[in-house]
Amino acid sequence: MKKLRLILGDQLNYQHSWHKEVDENTIYLMAEMRQETDYVKHHIQKVIAFFLSMRNFADVLKSKGHEVIYFKISDEDNAHDLENIIKNCIEKHNISQFEYQLPDEYRLDEQLKNICSTLKIETKAFDTEHFYTSRTELTEFFEGKKMLLMENFYRMMRKKHHVLMKGSQPEGNQWNFDKDNRLKYKGQVPIPNEITFNQNIEAVLNEIEKANVATFGKIDTKKFYWPTSREDCLKQLDYFCKNLLIHFGDYEDAMHTDEKFLFHSRLSFAMNSKMLSPKEVIETVVDFYHENKEAITISQVEGFVRQILGWREYVRGIYWKEMPNYSKMNELENHNKLPDFYWTGKTKMNCMQKAISQSLEEAYAHHIQRLMIIGNFSLLTQMHPDEVDAWYLGVYIDAIEWVELPNTRGMSQYADGGILATKPYVSSGSYINKMSNYCSSCHYNVKDKFGDKACPFNTLYWNFLDEKKQYFANNQRMGMMLNMLKKMKPEELAKINEKANHIIENLNEY
Ligand SMILES: Cc1cc2nc3c(=O)[nH]c(=O)nc-3n(C[C@H](O)[C@H](O)[C@H](O)COP(=O)(O)OP(=O)(O)OC[C@H]3O[C@@H](n4cnc5c(N)ncnc54)[C@H](O)[C@@H]3O)c2cc1C
Ligand code: SF4
Repeated sequence: MKKLRLILGDQLNYQHSWHKEVDENTIYLMAEMRQETDYVKHHIQKVIAFFLSMRNFADVLKSKGHEVIYFKISDEDNAHDLENIIKNCIEKHNISQFEYQLPDEYRLDEQLKNICSTLKIETKAFDTEHFYTSRTELTEFFEGKKMLLMENFYRMMRKKHHVLMKGSQPEGNQWNFDKDNRLKYKGQVPIPNEITFNQNIEAVLNEIEKANVATFGKIDTKKFYWPTSREDCLKQLDYFCKNLLIHFGDYEDAMHTDEKFLFHSRLSFAMNSKMLSPKEVIETVVDFYHENKEAITISQVEGFVRQILGWREYVRGIYWKEMPNYSKMNELENHNKLPDFYWTGKTKMNCMQKAISQSLEEAYAHHIQRLMIIGNFSLLTQMHPDEVDAWYLGVYIDAIEWVELPNTRGMSQYADGGILATKPYVSSGSYINKMSNYCSSCHYNVKDKFGDKACPFNTLYWNFLDEKKQYFANNQRMGMMLNMLKKMKPEELAKINEKANHIIENLNEY
């Protein structure tokens, strides 16, 4: 009996039980497909990183003796869509059983279920053996609850998986050190040299260009930050522990004109492609902390663990709880189009210029740049969430729908009406000024709300609150800001609204 096992581009789990033993009757199937390069326009570095990682993975399987059929983007016999590729292989190799790992994306999950329903051979789906939680664990945990609070989920996860626990109590006697994670970076401590990886980028870049895959963003073939082999992923994890963990929590929310990565791990691609498991990342980091307690404080390591054991598993659970409706939600009825500068970085707003340019150059921005600069601006200017989603899904190296969608449409755009966040993440320029040095070299004045040089974030912020005040009237967390809005003089508010409308209608001038 011949078995065909499909491995998708984000299922590169080197430790999966599938690969433990070689079976001469099992063929693995991997393919670089136009269906995947074209469903949204991706950053060039993202396409390269996935193809290189897939090729490295296939090579390792082959070197262990597994039989692998691999279609490159440039192969003439590549059918480029999943259904045809699978069906051709089944016929050509006389396959009697088809197996796949459960996709993390709803789109692919549906497609594979449909394909299987038309196959005349036995089919079987397997777990990816990657996440801590199953698809439904979050739904079961919050059964009967009105609020899906991340903090409650996170504490359950800490207890269940015994991470940073002393018996039944959290290490450091506190569950959450979020309040300690808000320092502004002023060069107080040096940031170590960056780690880059030596990879044969040119060859795969040529193939992608020859195949006319439409991409955007920049690439410097001498400076590639993304690990595409298991070995390099482990090097990146080791680099994080030895160099960055020490200040991770302190500067987690900070932004700086000269520092793109600060103390962030850049491990999201390694994990989302499944080359590293969240469990091994957390265990390695926590063990390193325990061995280096004299140098590293609990607030650094708890901040990191919260992102992976908490947020990462939580957004995945929300995705599977709410899909497919989630991808269409637009609770605030926003409808504007993204301005051109989302693809060029050419704007006079220094914070936007820096965050967007860096996203285009590196396929990366850290969490607060994504949330409180680009996401904040998109919400304040009332962009349609479909537009915002497509941009985020394309631009970031780690963007796969299960994690991108809840973060963008939910956390950042409040388009889910508060399923994920208890209030919209919007702010005026003062928050940006508090957490970065962007404002000191900006064309605009962060203190002004109107006038030629007024910071657009200020004008847009008060205008947003004014436009959405009915919607948020019963949201207690918005109470203080809405009270401040009420106290604003009508003539001042009228000037703000007029200016905000001008900004929204002429975004490319700002
Ligand atoms: C609007 C918006 C869109 C986002 N889109 C994505 C996306 O497409 N893919 C993605 O992986 N992350 C996304 N995030 C979450 C987060 O910004 C990235 O995971 C992080 O910036 C990746 O960089 P890092 O590895 O250096 O993270 P670090 O700051 O070093 O954090 C460590 C790890 O924690 C995890 N993590 C942190 N925050 C989150 C979060 N909110 N949700 C899920 N995991 C988290 C990531 O796996 C990350 O690698 C998004 C956040 C926002 C606000
Ligand atoms: S002044 Fe306003 S637009 Fe300029 S960097 Fe600061 S927040 Fe951004």
